[in-house]
Amino acid sequence: MKLRKVTAASAAVFALALTATACGGDDSGDGGSSSSGGGEKIKIGIKYDQPGLGLKTPDGSFSGFDVDVATYVAKELGYEPNQIEWVETKSADRENALSRGDVKLIAATYSITDERKQKVDFAGPYLLAHQDLLVKSDSDITEATDLNDKKLCSVTGSTSAQNVKNDFAPKAQLSNRGGYSECLSALQNGQVDALTTDDSILAGYAAQDEYKGKFKLAGLKLSNENYGIGVKKGDTATVDKVNKALEKMVSDGAWQKAVEENFGPANYKNEQAPKIGQIVK
Ligand code: GLU
Repeated sequence: MKLRKVTAASAAVFALALTATACGGDDSGDGGSSSSGGGEKIKIGIKYDQPGLGLKTPDGSFSGFDVDVATYVAKELGYEPNQIEWVETKSADRENALSRGDVKLIAATYSITDERKQKVDFAGPYLLAHQDLLVKSDSDITEATDLNDKKLCSVTGSTSAQNVKNDFAPKAQLSNRGGYSECLSALQNGQVDALTTDDSILAGYAAQDEYKGKFKLAGLKLSNENYGIGVKKGDTATVDKVNKALEKMVSDGAWQKAVEENFGPANYKNEQAPKIGQIVK
């Protein structure tokens, strides 16, 4: 399979003034909050609309590989599951959410890049994914070069959107939304011809009951996306603790179990567990 390397994305897009995410009541600015009774809480940023990775279900529960990784890490940091407060961190909000101290950690399909490392620190990586395309089952788009006169949807502040513009489809008509589920609706109703992001995310959508048979992944490995756990810039103590937790999660088999539980239903063939500190360029 063709493996095309995409260099680190250049200038990511940041909204100038992002509205505060749901994090009322905590002015400690370190992503933790002391609440009476339930013990100290840890605020962790995840995605809410990515089945298999980070999903908030209508009953208010949370599931996905990122959720499981974050839950394991939190436990190693001394927080039980009931001490975790999940916060939605959309792609474009992640750096700001960490800088402001809205959350202590982010586990949200968050690729480690040199550009982001200027603003935040990362533990990991804990998963290697690759950018791909999701198209309708009857689409004739098979290669990235097929996109150049087509309508393509991605998400503001993502490496996926940057890579399209900088590298593999500069002439595509790219429209960026706030989240990938919005792109999925646009793909379904014919507003766009393809949705591009990590294969891990796309596989999760394609496997949803309501979409079965409607979409297909192109199977292109357009980039290497090394998922890291984001922490506030300079918080090396937390980076070290999270790295230790991730190593333990792999060595005790919990990582593999989380992979099977979350990616099995989507038939997503993941890469093996990355080594901490080793970024695949
Ligand atoms: N992993 C890529 C990124 O960090 C795409 C997925 C996302 O937007 O969360 O930008």
